[in-house]
Amino acid sequence: MRTDHQTLRLTIAANDSVVRASDGWNSFVEEHWVGSLQPVVPDTSFWSIVAGSRPTAMYDLLLETARSGHSIGIDVWAAAREATTKVELSVAPCGALGHVELTLRSLGRRRHQPLAIFEKMAERTADEVDVCSFCLSVRSFGWQEVERALRQLRFPFVGPQPQIVPRVCDQCERTISTSCAPFRLGAGNGLA
Ligand SMILES: [Zn+2]
Repeated sequence: MRTDHQTLRLTIAANDSVVRASDGWNSFVEEHWVGSLQPVVPDTSFWSIVAGSRPTAMYDLLLETARSGHSIGIDVWAAAREATTKVELSVAPCGALGHVELTLRSLGRRRHQPLAIFEKMAERTADEVDVCSFCLSVRSFGWQEVERALRQLRFPFVGPQPQIVPRVCDQCERTISTSCAPFRLGAGNGLA
């Protein structure tokens, strides 16, 4: 599948239900680990398509910021069988009051060889590994670049893979919190 320069959109209503998804959204998130996002079923709650409690907390912050009238974009990585691609994940207010548009825009840049751990259909063992949902770093002794962490944890690069547990690394948590901080109620803008 060609994903270069592709833009996918999800529209979330004020009650957090997903009211619209671009063609291609489901196939993209079925093939990629990206932002802890899962395929959409019509009229599903946005929260049912986000895996993990820390990623959920980050989206809570992002949606709150968009609903206060501000747009936020962060660069994340989307990993699939063939390649890992940089993607801009953004949230912005749209249309009716409280509606938010979540966009995934491929930036077309790629890094490293494909890794079996990010192959969605890979056979999984009972082992678990913490993976940052946004930058795809892996926790071993601290958060590390994926190949380095897998070597430290002695997980194989081929064959059955450990289960991915969706987390958020310290750096991504800081980036998202800092991006949203100026727009939060009571953030010292004199209007709270
Ligand atoms: Zn991260």
